[in-house]
Amino acid sequence: MAYEHFYVYVCNPSSETRGSSAIAGKLATPKSTPCGRSNTHFTKQLINDDYRPQAAKCPECANRKRLNEGVVSKYDCFVQQKIRDGMGRVHTVDTDIIDLKASKDWAIKEAHRRNQSRKYHSLRRLSNPSEEVKKLLEQTVQSLEHMDEIIEQVGDLIE
Ligand SMILES: [Zn+2]
Repeated sequence: MAYEHFYVYVCNPSSETRGSSAIAGKLATPKSTPCGRSNTHFTKQLINDDYRPQAAKCPECANRKRLNEGVVSKYDCFVQQKIRDGMGRVHTVDTDIIDLKASKDWAIKEAHRRNQSRKYHSLRRLSNPSEEVKKLLEQTVQSLEHMDEIIEQVGDLIE
């Protein structure tokens, strides 16, 4: 009953169309602009050619992306086991049993990491206008310094 596959996908436009254009007008899902957020999708079934589920509503833009093998990432973590070699040394090796909790944690962390990186890049884009402001301020300071020179010169003339 538990989920066995833990995916990360990016909320971006799907290439797949939803049915024929004849019914698209009435039955199509309302169009929203996918936001680019990384989300998780947990499922009991492996996503492949036969199983292409639609993701839950994106928490940021409510888009429901159709998922397929090409647009999802997953990382299977395996349950580890300690074995002792002929020399009596202990090694930690992967078993062939998937560690569901660790795999789920990977998906959650990976989506978070990607979203942090996305936030960072969007903040960097936002900081461009303030660099322009900084440049303007520098020019203003230079003008003021120049103004001081003018005042000094005018003062010299008055004295
Ligand atoms: Zn979204």
